[in-house]
Amino acid sequence: MRIDIITIFPDYLAPLGLSLVGKARDQGLLDIRVHDLRDSTHDRHRTVDDEPYGGGPGMVMRPEPWGEALDAVLAQHPDPLLVIPTPSGMPFTQSLATQWSRRPGMVIACGRYEGIDARVADEYAGRAEVVPVSLGDYVLAGGEVAALAIVEAVTRLMPGVVGNEASVTDDSFAPGAMEGLVEGPVYTRPPEWRGHVVPDVLLSGDHGRIAAWRREQAERRTGAMRPELLEG
Ligand code: SAM
Repeated sequence: MRIDIITIFPDYLAPLGLSLVGKARDQGLLDIRVHDLRDSTHDRHRTVDDEPYGGGPGMVMRPEPWGEALDAVLAQHPDPLLVIPTPSGMPFTQSLATQWSRRPGMVIACGRYEGIDARVADEYAGRAEVVPVSLGDYVLAGGEVAALAIVEAVTRLMPGVVGNEASVTDDSFAPGAMEGLVEGPVYTRPPEWRGHVVPDVLLSGDHGRIAAWRREQAERRTGAMRPELLEG
């Protein structure tokens, strides 16, 4: 999979050299390229922002540097997907991550300030699938944290990235047994720690009972933490 990330803070994406994503890159499963938006500016100050039309606080990212950077990068994607992190986008979910993990690649445009001039999304809607996505109902300072989250969620679903693929299919929200549910509690050795014991059923070796217990725990936790999921 090829992933291009455009940002004014390329160093923010350094963690993509670590852990599972870093290993997948070393193995050639993933080709991640980080681009500095300021390389697509042509003034002495490498300006990427300006005052908002209509007034108001903050600055807005100008369309010209985005146009130049995106023209160059999207041309290298045969089936382009342009992801624009924004609090006003559709929720980024496991279902979206699963769909995107089957694509050949994506381009992520990291906004800063009050966001990117809206004409940029309009411009590319004709030649790419443009998807504004939100990590949640809160406001970050920039799209880089969202890009890190999206890349990690998507790429761990690609075959070969996570060592034991069953650990992905058993996760919260995974299609199948866990669809619409969050995972229940998990335990490891020792069987007793500071007076807290591991539930007997997990030590029983009875796979049927263990599966039923895990399902019941997942439903219970979903009801307690995410009741709106059960309503669906
Ligand atoms: N004025 C914008 C609004 O109220 O919707 C907020 C802009 S925010 C300060 C700057 C950038 O951070 C956004 O362009 C986006 O890239 C990123 N961002 C902030 N919150 C986000 C979220 N919940 N999900 C995804 N991206 C987010």
